[in-house]
Amino acid sequence: MSTLHAGYFTEGLDADPELAAALRGELKRQQDGIELIASENIVSRLVLEAQGSVLTNKTVEGLPYARYYGGAEFADAIEALAVERAKKLFNCRFANVQPHSGSNANAGVFLGLLKLGDTILSMNTAAGGHISHGHPATLTGRDYRIVPYGVSRETERIELDELRTLALDHAPKLIVAGGSAYPPAIDFAGMRAIADEVGALFMVDMAHFAGLVATGLYPHPFPHAHVVTSTTYKSLRGARGGIVLWNDASLNDRINYGIFPGVQGSVMMHAVAGKAACFGEALKPEFHAYNEAVLANARAMAAALATEGLRIVGGGTDCGLMLVDLSPLGVTGDIAAKALEKAGLAVNKNLVPFDPRPPEAPSGLRLSSNAGTARGFGIAEFETIAGWIARVVKAPADAAAIAAVRAQVTSLCASFPIYA
Ligand SMILES: *Cc1c(COP(=O)(O)O)cnc(C)c1O
Repeated sequence: MSTLHAGYFTEGLDADPELAAALRGELKRQQDGIELIASENIVSRLVLEAQGSVLTNKTVEGLPYARYYGGAEFADAIEALAVERAKKLFNCRFANVQPHSGSNANAGVFLGLLKLGDTILSMNTAAGGHISHGHPATLTGRDYRIVPYGVSRETERIELDELRTLALDHAPKLIVAGGSAYPPAIDFAGMRAIADEVGALFMVDMAHFAGLVATGLYPHPFPHAHVVTSTTYKSLRGARGGIVLWNDASLNDRINYGIFPGVQGSVMMHAVAGKAACFGEALKPEFHAYNEAVLANARAMAAALATEGLRIVGGGTDCGLMLVDLSPLGVTGDIAAKALEKAGLAVNKNLVPFDPRPPEAPSGLRLSSNAGTARGFGIAEFETIAGWIARVVKAPADAAAIAAVRAQVTSLCASFPIYA
């Protein structure tokens, strides 16, 4: 008897009806619903194919043209292509495209640049920071001494004088900018000046605004940052994974060894191919137009939500994401997010700055225009969506209203098909 089932090399998903049914369900969920979760986007068929390619079979360790295993000629070419494109996209001298995720990019940089117990000044998760910047529940939180900074109560923004005081008091070895729920533009030059004053390195994690940086629509972290990290599947609209970028050749070994063997083993070459594909797309003029629309759509949605009486944290946004404070409406983020999901609008509950409520039932919602813009929605559609959001969050128990919105969501999605 053959050791392979019939169709092993030819059949595809038909060979596994149970899995296929769930995948078809997921495709339909994406096609028929509106994705407003900031950590998601909708990739091209090209990125899907690159990431689902035969590179799944290839194992390599080390950097291109200096691998431990043989048979790496095409893997080398693909990774070198991804590195070249990343450097061009972000106008920097060095790139490592191997991190399996944004968290791994950050952990690898910390491992390469810091010693156990060194002090890191990074944004509090309660104020919009990301857990991979030293949350106590993570390895980074255990291995380094974390001093968290937040935002000011009045402006809901990072205030450099407060940050400077913390830096002078704690003498960090690394200052980290960037987070997952911080909509305003960050003053990278101001933060670098503080880092220089206390002798710290300065890192920017641009996961949520990398696409805008690449297209000149958000302040550029270089030349201010010593090192920049990002995910590649949020605002970069590409493969799952992370990247590290830098300019100073004296950091090469520390960063590269920090990623491998520091926090990872072999390269996920299929994801690297997906990164090469999305960086190639990001170098085209259409990606600039996409990012202009991301910003215009986010601002239009925030303004329309404010007109409906919802409070936008910080008064607006400089990137694709925004935070909505629901506390004036007397509804919590968890209840609002569940009702919105029933209406076909995917969002996530989120803490707002100085939230008196717990993370499981916080005061806010986080929304993003990234994915909707990728499927072609413009300002008119985002204003309409804002109206639907307001209707649902003002009456989260009104089943008839939710059903009415769900029908309109389905019909809007049918006019903007994906993977048809
Ligand atoms: C999403 C995110 C990450 C982590 O990405 P994973 O791929 O989930 O590990 C890191 N930093 C920031 C700022 C993020 O938003």
